[in-house]
Amino acid sequence: MAKTLDLIDMFPTNLKDMARNDFEKAYSQLSDKNDIHLKTIEDKVYTYFNSLKIPDSPNLYDYLILSLRKKDLIATFNWDPFLTQSYSRLHSEGVCNLPECAFLHGNVSMGVCLKHNIKVSHKNKCPKCGKILHQQNLSIQ
Ligand SMILES: [Zn+2]
Repeated sequence: MAKTLDLIDMFPTNLKDMARNDFEKAYSQLSDKNDIHLKTIEDKVYTYFNSLKIPDSPNLYDYLILSLRKKDLIATFNWDPFLTQSYSRLHSEGVCNLPECAFLHGNVSMGVCLKHNIKVSHKNKCPKCGKILHQQNLSIQ
């Protein structure tokens, strides 16, 4: 991740090797220190993940969602939008009885209303107050 997005130089010297080999661990340590580069790194990571698109053809995410029922839960640590893109596509095609999803470390395709603590697709507004949603923070912990 750090190499792909050219983030290595934003990490302090003692975390550069770790950032090359285990980006999440290095990012977590940077986050603990509230480093000045944290926001820039998070913005680049967010932009990268937000640009990703699932293929139009049926894929692993479609099969996963279709194999579960409304009473099931998909809990994920992934920041990428693949699960929500598949979920939205299936829903728009009329698939009902979809499982719940929990994004344990945030997700680029989800937004949050801080007043109502509602998390829905960032393309929507808060269903209670109608305000534009805040970008959901990405976290490691
Ligand atoms: Zn609201």
